[in-house]
Amino acid sequence: MSKGLPKRSEDYSLWYNELVKKAGLAENSAVRGCMVIKPYGYAIWERMQRVLDDMFKATGHSNAYFPLFIPKSYLSREADHVEGFAKECAVVTHYRLKATEDGVTVDPDAKLEEELIVRPTSETIIWSTYKSWVQSYRDLPLLVNQWANVVRWEMRTRLFLRTAEFLWQEGHTAHATAEEAIAETKQMMEVYAEFAEKYIALPVVRGVKTPKERFAGALDTYCIEGLMQDGKALQAGTSHFLGQNFAKAFDVKFATKDGGLEYVWGTSWGVSTRLMGALVMAHSDDEGLVLPPKLAPIQVVIVPIYKGEEQLAQISEKVLKLKKELEAKGISVKYDNRDTERPGFKFAEWELKGVPVRVAIGNRDLENGTAEVARRDTKEKSTQQFDSLTDYIPALLDEIQENIYSKAFNFREEHTTKVDTYEEFKEVLETKGGFVLAHWDGTSETEERIKEETKATIRCIALESPEEDGVDMLTGKPSKQRVYFAKAY
Ligand code: AMP
Repeated sequence: MSKGLPKRSEDYSLWYNELVKKAGLAENSAVRGCMVIKPYGYAIWERMQRVLDDMFKATGHSNAYFPLFIPKSYLSREADHVEGFAKECAVVTHYRLKATEDGVTVDPDAKLEEELIVRPTSETIIWSTYKSWVQSYRDLPLLVNQWANVVRWEMRTRLFLRTAEFLWQEGHTAHATAEEAIAETKQMMEVYAEFAEKYIALPVVRGVKTPKERFAGALDTYCIEGLMQDGKALQAGTSHFLGQNFAKAFDVKFATKDGGLEYVWGTSWGVSTRLMGALVMAHSDDEGLVLPPKLAPIQVVIVPIYKGEEQLAQISEKVLKLKKELEAKGISVKYDNRDTERPGFKFAEWELKGVPVRVAIGNRDLENGTAEVARRDTKEKSTQQFDSLTDYIPALLDEIQENIYSKAFNFREEHTTKVDTYEEFKEVLETKGGFVLAHWDGTSETEERIKEETKATIRCIALESPEEDGVDMLTGKPSKQRVYFAKAY
């Protein structure tokens, strides 16, 4: 099969788009900015959901569901929040259509008394509900998560990375103290970081956003930032400390242990289908997807190479036994015995789809008791004893998972540069990209000017960055710490 994929080095953006479509992950839809997630893409998303959901439950959270619509007046209760989201809201004004000679039209008699916003995020509807859920310190903490779709009317969209409608989870928690809420915010950032590193095999920088990049309505936004193969950063997850902002906006108070009455402290945190984009951009190559085994819907594909029914029957007998044994170990295996395609076509197709391990077994293998094993990440092939595969393959999958992570980690190390002057800063951005570690004077003005002049933004103030005396590369004002700059998606 001809894959017809552009090369990353020639047009990274086109490569990404074509790969997402050709590998069967998603495609554009009739609705501008909204995508169709195809079964293979959705299978990966489901894997992500399952792991994340287990992690949320293990940290004490429960799932619930709130309405898709938010009364318009709710959004304006929190001043920063409405300012941040107003520009990208879809608004429902009517609830009925009317048939006309030319088709249908909005029925002017069916105008909503109060317009509804399609949720861009659910803080307002959830905090309006929490008002009746929280009365006393005994009701706290409230640890709730919702899996949902949201709509943000984005102007420049790209499959998975930025769409007008996207799928995500949003955690919304309420606490008795600021300390507890901050601990929760950091904990969830750490959950995201662990998920990114252990499952997506994407090393991330953990940090806090500058005030300018903060979530609208939050006191602090913690985030994880990954680096893609073209040297651009991607915000992969955010966790917000909301202070008492939403409690005040929706009048959520609780009776304290010693008889007082106080506003509740809040957090919210989310990751979205953007993680699918991160997965693709971080590891894949010119031949197709490279999926980390822990998120691959199919971890092993077995392709028979045969002449005639008799040979196929012999191969199938062995393969089905192996498949069962591997499945018993929790490994997902596909036996591709389609007789409509040739082995070469199948190899190319599974390579495009990023299946981590391919096993091929032919006539000579039957005689020798062997099989050919190919790994997707390095494209290495080796001949293995067939009987050893039940042990060999699980170990190989672990090795692939680690290797993909190491590769991404080394790439990030090679593409993280310390600079001290603005000249160097601009040069690094132009030539090799990646994260640029530089001193910053802490003002939004400087941050804005750098963004205008170079398109680079402060991705975060990393939690692990050591304190270091220096001066802002642009203004010469004192700085206590380097921050992470990068061009970003
Ligand atoms: P936020 O509520 O803005 O903190 O975003 C929560 C999560 O959703 C973050 O991980 C963002 O990276 C992600 N996200 C924000 N906007 C979009 C979008 N238009 N498409 C996909 N993911 C998004």
